Amino acid sequence: MQDELPVEIETQVEGQPHTGKTLAVIGPHSDDFSIFSAGTVAKLISEGYTGYFIRVTNDEMDSYDLTTSETVLANESDTQDVARVLGIQKVYDLNYRNHYLDEVPPTEIRNRLIFLFRLLKVDTVLGFDPWGHYEENPDHYVAAQATEAACWMAGGRLDLPEHLEAGLEPYGVSEKYYWARGPQLVNRVVDITQVIEQKMESIRANRTQIRNMALGLRDRLAARKLTLPWLSADDETIIKEYVDLVFRAADHHTGQQHGLEYAEAFHYIGPGDHSSKFTSCHMEDYLRKHAIPLE
Ligand SMILES: [Zn+2]
Repeated sequence: MQDELPVEIETQVEGQPHTGKTLAVIGPHSDDFSIFSAGTVAKLISEGYTGYFIRVTNDEMDSYDLTTSETVLANESDTQDVARVLGIQKVYDLNYRNHYLDEVPPTEIRNRLIFLFRLLKVDTVLGFDPWGHYEENPDHYVAAQATEAACWMAGGRLDLPEHLEAGLEPYGVSEKYYWARGPQLVNRVVDITQVIEQKMESIRANRTQIRNMALGLRDRLAARKLTLPWLSADDETIIKEYVDLVFRAADHHTGQQHGLEYAEAFHYIGPGDHSSKFTSCHMEDYLRKHAIPLE
């Protein structure tokens, strides 16, 4: 599917051209922020963006040997650490139940996102691709669809008009970087070579969830009467080895497909991109020829 759209390579730019702009990463889970987008987030913040995390669930299902309550607290704390590593301004935890986002009215999630997009004046979002294929986790695709709709509805004068009485203004999101675990239409590859170590540190900050993944691997190998030497080391070593084995390797693989050392891949939708056939390049041609300065 990647061949169906031209791919633009986004590289590090000099200076801080994005000063004054705001990005929000919408992650259903604490590990999503760093695994899929930490390189791009670190790069954009270094180029001037102010960044926020919006964590949609409470991550109560994701630990190796903690109780449910301990798991919620550990993942909340880990998310703060991920945010610190990446220079994120603030984390907003929506705290819906992990794995059960599909029982929440979609309009409720959407409305909470519209509120935050207006409050924070979000220009750019990063999140799961609402059109990504073969996604098995309902938290991922429900959050993705709510994000997609909230991006344009946040700009609507008659959507949630009581917000305007509270001092907010309509504010539509103009840029979207969508990631996916499975196949998607990739049209933007971001060179994250300069920030790869910061990205790896941010993934390792998800101690609870990465430890769960690594010890899950240890258990599956044990069932096959196998192990890896580092799986019997201390937690810090286990987490570091696992992150390099899985996530550093994945970003290197993505990079190599595009002549880069490390990269993240997205479906990108920019300010001038419209999915509608009624607002095509014909409109832009027309405006270039006929638009005149306003007195
Ligand atoms: Zn997730």
